[in-house]
Parts: sequence; C-alpha cells; structure tokens
Amino acid sequence: MPTVIVSDIHSNIQALDAVLADAEQRTPIDRVWCLGDIVGYGGDPGPVIAALRAREALVVAGNHDRAACDLMSTDEFNPVAARAVAWTAERLSHDGQQWLGGLPLTAISGDWTLAHGSLRAPEWEYLLDEEQAEAQFALQTTPYSLVGHSHLPFVVRDIANVQPSFESTPDGFMLELDDVRLIVNPGSVGQPRDRDPRASYVLYDEAAATITWRRVEYDIAGAQKAIVKAGLPRFLAERLAEGR
Ligand code: ZN
Repeated sequence: MPTVIVSDIHSNIQALDAVLADAEQRTPIDRVWCLGDIVGYGGDPGPVIAALRAREALVVAGNHDRAACDLMSTDEFNPVAARAVAWTAERLSHDGQQWLGGLPLTAISGDWTLAHGSLRAPEWEYLLDEEQAEAQFALQTTPYSLVGHSHLPFVVRDIANVQPSFESTPDGFMLELDDVRLIVNPGSVGQPRDRDPRASYVLYDEAAATITWRRVEYDIAGAQKAIVKAGLPRFLAERLAEGR
C-alpha cells in the first residue's frame, strides 16, 4: 500500500500536482495522507481541496485551514498570513468550506498518528526541540507520528536514555521502519522553508516498511502568477523561488 504523505500545501496546486505525478511515476498510489495547511498563502485553494477530495485523502486540519473557516482567530497570525486567510475565506465555496471546517485535528491510521503541529497543540506548536519531542513521544500511542507546520523535513528517533535529536532528511533519504519510535516531518509541498525551493514529501511503502523523503521541481512561475493575480502580497510569490 504505497502512501503519499504531504503537508503544508498552502493552495499551491502546481506543487501538489508535481508531487502526485512524481509519486505515481514510481509506484501506483493507494493512499494520500495530508497533515494540514491545505490553504493559505497561495492562489489556488479550490483546486487543492478538489484534488485531495478526489483521492479521498486522510486529512487533518492546520491553523490556516481552521482560520479560513472561522474556527480560529487570526490575531496571532502575522499580517501577511492573516491577509491570505481572509482572501481564502472569501474564495472558498460553501461546500469546500464545509469540508475544510469538518477536518479533525488528529487522526490515526495503522501504526501512524497524524497531526499538523504536534499532539499536545495540533493547531499551533512548532515541534522543533528536544523537550517538545519528548512530550510528543509521551502522547504518541502509535509507533510513529507525523507532523508538519514548520515546513522543515526531519525525523526524530526515540532511543532509550538518549536525548531526542532532529535529523534533517534531504532528497532521497530513506529509513527502514523497525521498533524504534519516530516523529516524522515530510516537509512542505507548497512553501518549503529550508532553502530548497523544490516541493517536499514522503513516500511510505508499507510492504517494504520504508519511508523515503523526496524533493520535486514544479512550476514555481505558475504558482507565483496565481499569487500575484489574486492580489496577495508579492513576498508570498518571491519566497517560493528561494525556498524560505
Ligand atoms: Zn504551514
């Protein structure tokens, strides 16, 4: 059962299409899991929602998704993010908003738990240090958990008597799944922030018990055009080319 694991698409349909095409070129895809922030920042919220629904993806909500459905205030968002949320909320179809607003904050599938930020604060926490990793492992009832939100691809292993450390996972990084508990971040599809502008995702091969991080070139100019056309801040278009 090959599974495509994506996060932080942020209304970037060009990046999502490239990720799905890249995965399909390698293996027939059975499932898509998405860790939230489907919308926000980018210019194509509707097509991204439609693509996930068409594939019956297992999806949890991110802060941008919740805010675009008025389930969370944007008081703590930076002004650019808040503006993109307001723009998105106006464009969502009634049906799209219902779907987005109905997404759970966490989900479990087999050995995996999905959350946007972390298990203790799914909407908000950037899981980036040892204390946060320990808290995550304490709450994690499955061997492996998946988080997004920071837009940084990494893995943390739970090894007895060893401080959890964050290992960055570049293109092609493959991990064999065994009895070591893990926290996995697939990186961001639609707005990578690790200075590599290529879309990031994880391909999970359940039969082989492996996960592989992949980076994919996509039509950045097309995504930028959609942002500019939407009248969203130009910075949101420019950052895509720089991966920040
Ligand atoms: Zn995000």
